[in-house]
Amino acid sequence: MHTIQYGTKQIRFSITNRKRKSIAVEVHPDTSVQIKAPLDCDLENIKKVVSKRSKWIITQQKFFEQFLPETPKREYVVGETHSYLGRKYILKISDSADNKVTIKGGYLVVHTQNNTEENVKHLLTEWYYKRATKVFEKVYNEAFQKFNQYNIVKPEIQIKRMKKRWGSYTSSGNILINPELIKAATVCIEYVMIHELCHLIERNHSKKFYSLLEKMAPDWQRWKLKLEKM
Ligand SMILES: [Zn+2]
Repeated sequence: MHTIQYGTKQIRFSITNRKRKSIAVEVHPDTSVQIKAPLDCDLENIKKVVSKRSKWIITQQKFFEQFLPETPKREYVVGETHSYLGRKYILKISDSADNKVTIKGGYLVVHTQNNTEENVKHLLTEWYYKRATKVFEKVYNEAFQKFNQYNIVKPEIQIKRMKKRWGSYTSSGNILINPELIKAATVCIEYVMIHELCHLIERNHSKKFYSLLEKMAPDWQRWKLKLEKM
């Protein structure tokens, strides 16, 4: 897999070398990008071609995205899988008056006497929120320490549901984090926070921004990809 940067987007592509004369760019219905290149073609040349076709590639991907299946709707029933910190757990309902959620082995156990979809959803959402508050605080403090060398004032973090973003640095100087991020691995949570903290130094997604991000989180592309696959 190779990538090129196009504005704020990354275009990932794979290359197959064939006995042919020109470079062909294909976008498949699963939104993957495949390059067919002559046998002696070097990567720099291919990247140039992909770069030139970036706008077209993104348009194609957007078109195909409409037809991709959405993440399955939750029904909050026994046996369903739910993620927490990058691991999948099987939902189990335990008949007890505790009204709480615990993790045991590979199970996420909801203790309640009311196993309606509405109540189980409520208890789980509340639990995720509480875990998010604790975990985010800890990860955020660690992420901020990496910025010791910069003279920046530590912004407040707030948990906020956002439709399409994991995090955001607001014009009023706060960092917003999507509570859904608690379902991702800790490294992914840390990456989102580092990304937002980088905005305190470089406001826009400029080249300088990405080189700072690279410095603060050298594996960031891996974590970003992991988040996209969630
Ligand atoms: Zn950003």
